[in-house]
Amino acid sequence: MKVLIADDDALSRKILQDALLEWGYDMVVAQNGKEAWAILERADRPNMAVLDWMMPGMDGVEICSRLRALNLANYVYVILLTAKNKREDIIKGLESGADDYVIKPFNYEELKLRLKIGRRIIELEQNILRLASTDYLTGLLNRRAFLERMTRELNRCQRERSHLGIIIMDIDHFKQVNDKYGHQVGDLVLQELSTALVKCCRVYDFSGRYGGEEFILCLPGADKWSTCQIAERMRSSIECRKVFLPGQKSFVSVTASFGVASMLPGQPKSSDELIKQADDALYQAKNEGRNRVVMCTQN
Ligand code: GH3
Ligand code: MG
Ligand code: MG
Repeated sequence: MKVLIADDDALSRKILQDALLEWGYDMVVAQNGKEAWAILERADRPNMAVLDWMMPGMDGVEICSRLRALNLANYVYVILLTAKNKREDIIKGLESGADDYVIKPFNYEELKLRLKIGRRIIELEQNILRLASTDYLTGLLNRRAFLERMTRELNRCQRERSHLGIIIMDIDHFKQVNDKYGHQVGDLVLQELSTALVKCCRVYDFSGRYGGEEFILCLPGADKWSTCQIAERMRSSIECRKVFLPGQKSFVSVTASFGVASMLPGQPKSSDELIKQADDALYQAKNEGRNRVVMCTQN
């Protein structure tokens, strides 16, 4: 867990740094309020902050108010650390959006435990966010989380004028697998195929479960042809795969159809457009006999 420490007094900073290091925290250190705010504005901001109240440039209370006004998707837990010990100060500090308030000179054991409370809350949030973005059966991103990430990647690729490829995959005649072997075996097939898909991806690609037996992949930087090559690798890997029935020597094999679409460097395309193109290509793959990759020919 990374913690921002902001204090204009060198000795206080050193004492805090040593203590947090001993308690196992990663740290980023700011020597004044402006520096602290610059760190909190970054996308890779720490999840926790210990802020001194009185600092030149911007004080801890102002940093707190500004931070809360950002309405961040990921919470930053803030402890105000200050020599101000009047009740109205504590109220003002908490009103500004601080989660906790510790009076200087701080007691080691107390600060350690107060940080632990913050850590617990941040870890709880991270766990909830992970559960909310994951498909429980396959462990891939769920549809909403995939689309959010895809939109971010699409914007980045447009800015950096690079290619981006999309693959949508749908298992062929999957209903028959459920009908013949039951839903549990169907679930097992979905799990194994999702693993097979991920194995064909590059490290910066990401995949999601789009619907029941439909999967979607985003390949930042990949042009049309390399996206097709990867889809073809997936198709062939699925075709060869044997999913063994639990406790038996017999196995199930399935095939899948793939639709591919891509965005050219600098091309203004929305996620919806790209997905529609890949979906149309998938529809064509199904109509042409399944177990194949079809690339969208439109730009
Ligand atoms: P096609 O080749 O045209 O895609 O045929 P299909 O049978 O795969 O397509 P259809 O849309 O008719 O059926 C999809 C099946 O996927 C029906 C549904 O029960 C099954 N399915 C969807 N989600 C799950 C799941 O989570 N677990 C299991 N076991 N089956 C699922
Ligand atoms: Mg389907
Ligand atoms: Mg299907």
